Amino acid sequence: MYALRVMRTRAVKGTYDVLPERQSSWHLLRDTAERVLGRAGVEELTTPVIEHAELFERSVGASADLVVQKEMYRFEDRGGRTLALRPEFTAGVLRSFVEHGMHTRPTPVKLWSLGPAFRAENVQRGRYRQFHQLNCEYLGLPGPLIDAEAIAALHDLLVELGLPELRVALGSVGDAADRDAYNAYLREALDGVRDELSPTSQERLRLNPMRILDAKDENDRRLIADLDRPLDRLGPDARAHLDGVAEHLSAWEVPFDLAPEIVRGLDYYRRTAFEVHAVGIGAQSALAGGGRYDGLVASLGGPETPAIGWALGVERVFDALAQADAVPDAPAGPDLFLVPMDDDAVREAATLARTLRRELHVRHAYQVRAPGKGLRDADRAGARFAALRGGRERSAGVWTLKNLASGEQTELAADRLVDAARKDGSR
Ligand code: AMP
Repeated sequence: MYALRVMRTRAVKGTYDVLPERQSSWHLLRDTAERVLGRAGVEELTTPVIEHAELFERSVGASADLVVQKEMYRFEDRGGRTLALRPEFTAGVLRSFVEHGMHTRPTPVKLWSLGPAFRAENVQRGRYRQFHQLNCEYLGLPGPLIDAEAIAALHDLLVELGLPELRVALGSVGDAADRDAYNAYLREALDGVRDELSPTSQERLRLNPMRILDAKDENDRRLIADLDRPLDRLGPDARAHLDGVAEHLSAWEVPFDLAPEIVRGLDYYRRTAFEVHAVGIGAQSALAGGGRYDGLVASLGGPETPAIGWALGVERVFDALAQADAVPDAPAGPDLFLVPMDDDAVREAATLARTLRRELHVRHAYQVRAPGKGLRDADRAGARFAALRGGRERSAGVWTLKNLASGEQTELAADRLVDAARKDGSR
């Protein structure tokens, strides 16, 4: 409404407010996650937003953008500890898994979490600095069946949210040895054209060549166009694993494409890697991504635990819902809006509201209102009924109840208001 005079009173760049009228999307997301994932035995885990920075540095790998491009919000607290705002969920979930000995629970342990994540990225559409993820991990099983279950759950969740047009892109980065061999192949294949690559790709060629496949630069894309993809060079075990995942997904009629180009940004992925895209939306169409990360739990000090997980970008999903015209309705307005037309009625409205709110959503004007203005207030609030009392129509304890849709009016005692407002299409 008002121009803010001091810049610092604006939201930080790359962050945003969720206004009341947008809350229903969040409720829908949380309710759907609870239902779809809950029925599949996935339990909710809440972990802190701050963790020791080392946790992320050790897990995501030194070559990840988060570390190389300094995308992690890292700071020293007053006790001299180096902490970070979580840039992703997996490391914190695994820290919690290890810290609470969750490996002794029945296998697989399935955990979901919802909350903010932070990355100091270049802000653009679909790319924020405080964004939100719905994260899901399946711990304890090594075979392709659980990978398929994780991918199918993500797919079903998105469909349930109202996004029927999805593309599941399934790939594999191979086992550690395959990955090393593939990286060596890329280094050799690109050695002659190293100087022609963009600075980002040159850096990747040095630290994690496979990530070059994610290059956006036109010239880079041309230089890598004819090279083998990770899928072309999988070892027999990783190949059999991928075939297994594909078989289960086909049997369950989860639509997917084999995607040779899929590589994931973080170093810890092994074998299965996948992304889910919304069909027909622009550049930031990746709604979610995930993969298998056998070895990561052990590297964080826990027992050897195979695992797979995914993270869904909440803002991206909301954007896709908007483009599919599937945004949930704004929260419903009040059942009843009380309009006091004299001082006595102002007092009674507040007292009455307190009682009626045990059952109904009730709002009222806080000062004497003329009937026309009061009805306009009720209408603006989206109320189903207005009840007026006082002024010329004064008659102690009697309210005029008006159905704002039909215009129908009745005179009622205060103690009859709940019944009357509830009866007519109560929500
Ligand atoms: P990642 O952890 O990078 O695999 O990201 C998983 C999902 O989170 C992506 O598919 C996006 O939907 C979403 N995401 C990642 N980074 C951002 C960001 N900076 N802003 C908004 N969404 C993001």
